[in-house]
Amino acid sequence: MQQRTVVVVEDEASIASAVAARLRSEGFTVQIAADGPAGVALCREVRPDLVILDLMLPGLDGLEVCRQVQKDRPVPVLMLTARDSETDMLVGLAVGADDYMTKPFSPRELVARVHAILRRMERTLVFPGAGQVGPSVTTVGDVELDARSRRVRRAGEEVHLTPTEFDLLSWLAAHPGAVASREQLLHQVWGYRDGSGARTVDSHIRSLRRKLGTGIVRTVHGVGYALDAT
Ligand code: CA
Repeated sequence: MQQRTVVVVEDEASIASAVAARLRSEGFTVQIAADGPAGVALCREVRPDLVILDLMLPGLDGLEVCRQVQKDRPVPVLMLTARDSETDMLVGLAVGADDYMTKPFSPRELVARVHAILRRMERTLVFPGAGQVGPSVTTVGDVELDARSRRVRRAGEEVHLTPTEFDLLSWLAAHPGAVASREQLLHQVWGYRDGSGARTVDSHIRSLRRKLGTGIVRTVHGVGYALDAT
């Protein structure tokens, strides 16, 4: 099997080396950058399969690194933050990271998430539209989703979604009227087996609303989210 490459952008050397050691023991090739500009340069050079990105970095913060790295090509990003309040801020900004972890985290949990994200990316990049039944195009209000080409249009204009945003919207569109809890969505869309990471779901919903209009997904208070049949 082809060896997969992970870039770790983290200025705390002890965290960077612990994460790298754990991932190497799982068979990944790992490269480390210790500041923002070096992280962007390293991603351009090695074209990693996934980026683990600390938020607070010298030079260029994780937010800007995330933007620059994803501008070049779609690559999944797992963000590390020092505090829950930082994760809340990122969720509010809907930065386009695929997942978030607050320090301190268990290396085992990090590795589980890395595997889950990569499994999902492989499924969607190698077999776009795999598992899809029925027609390729689904319409939700003025939004059109094409499962085969993984393209989305709103009122005829193409809208760029990250792979995770697309998967989340597709799942909701495939289950119109059903109310899904955050835990269910984490399981179905992210492939996580435990329920942690509810704010990751909120972040992606927020991002979908920003790109496709606030009416695209309904919040069902105390339960989760639903997409209404149109
Ligand atoms: Ca840091």
